[in-house]
Amino acid sequence: KGLNRVSFETTLMRTMRKKLKSLGEFKVYKAQSTMYAEPMEEGLDIDEAFKRIQRTFGLAAVSRSCVVEKDFDAICSAAVTYLEKELRAAKTFKVEARRSDKKFPMNSMEIACEAGGYILSKYPHLKVDVHTPQLTVYVEVRDFGAYVHADKQQAVGGLPVGTSGKCAFMLSGGIDSPVAAYMMAKRGVTLMGIHFASPPYTSERAKMKVVSLAEKISVYTGGFVLQVVPFTEIQEYMRDMGPEPLFTVLMRRSMMRICEKLGNDYGCGGIITGESLAQVASQTLQAIACTDAAQSLPVLRPLIGMDKNEIVKISREIDTFETSILPYEDCCTVFTPPHPKTKPTLAEILAAEEKMVALPQMEAKAAAEIERIFINV
Ligand code: ATP
Ligand code: MG
Repeated sequence: KGLNRVSFETTLMRTMRKKLKSLGEFKVYKAQSTMYAEPMEEGLDIDEAFKRIQRTFGLAAVSRSCVVEKDFDAICSAAVTYLEKELRAAKTFKVEARRSDKKFPMNSMEIACEAGGYILSKYPHLKVDVHTPQLTVYVEVRDFGAYVHADKQQAVGGLPVGTSGKCAFMLSGGIDSPVAAYMMAKRGVTLMGIHFASPPYTSERAKMKVVSLAEKISVYTGGFVLQVVPFTEIQEYMRDMGPEPLFTVLMRRSMMRICEKLGNDYGCGGIITGESLAQVASQTLQAIACTDAAQSLPVLRPLIGMDKNEIVKISREIDTFETSILPYEDCCTVFTPPHPKTKPTLAEILAAEEKMVALPQMEAKAAAEIERIFINV
């Protein structure tokens, strides 16, 4: 990312530290264009730490490495014990050595050859293949020690969270919105969640489901705030005052205005939703146009061109699917009209809103009475 590189890396390391914090003391630092997370105490859960790092946006690949003294015998014995599982499973291998400490008595070539020979003597079933080995054993002799590791594993990629600004994301209990949040966070957006709840039409359990979806997202992003907006009064008012076929779009516009208000308070530059074109009545082009006209922050809809099965695939990958399909009520479905208008015009929407004189005041009240929940796993 050109001149931004340093600030991107700083942001990335901050997220890594945040995600490892609850596991114990880790030192996270950068040296020679590689980032390291090193346990500073004995007995830390390295499997979990590895998983958390692997799911941090901004990292393309990770490897788990053993650090030993800069001594050739120590390197060799580390390689054969630390990588035992990989060495047993492979048929062909090679050793790739790098030496940034030029004072080390052997050069890279010598390290690779000698260490390769030692590994062969311990695992005679192996064959050396320098072109397309099944396993590459890496030995890196660096300033503070020698690192031994196997091939890199893929990480989630994307950009470090926090490098693309902040957005309010609208989180329902459905399949789509967690996927939308994940996708935008992957592009470096810091999230602030907003959920509309309508008790007693929606239950406490429905809210807890949304909290657990938010927690699943935070596995990737690190912690964030989820604001729960009390929406009952507004929905009842719209049910009583507005034309029924327009209910859904009127409700969505109200949600968007409240999101704009809360978003501005939090310094958000946009609103993220899980809408997908024509999936339901409120997601036609005409309905989206009416929704967009409700407020002035840009609305990001990463799922707009995706099919349901493509969305479901991602939701399974990020482990939100099973939670999303739990059968709890959502505030949107509670009052949904049997025949929503799929092609509303802005003129008729504005006319309906004009008759709902108490609406602005109710929206201000709802935005003031939010419940803030800090999400972090
Ligand atoms: P989802 O699967 O995300 O619930 P959906 O297909 O049910 O989406 P809608 O109900 O039309 O679609 O909602 C569209 C988008 O509006 C959602 O993806 C979400 O971003 C937002 N949204 C809907 N209901 C709520 C809610 N109760 N609280 C916060 N945001 C909501
Ligand atoms: Mg929904």
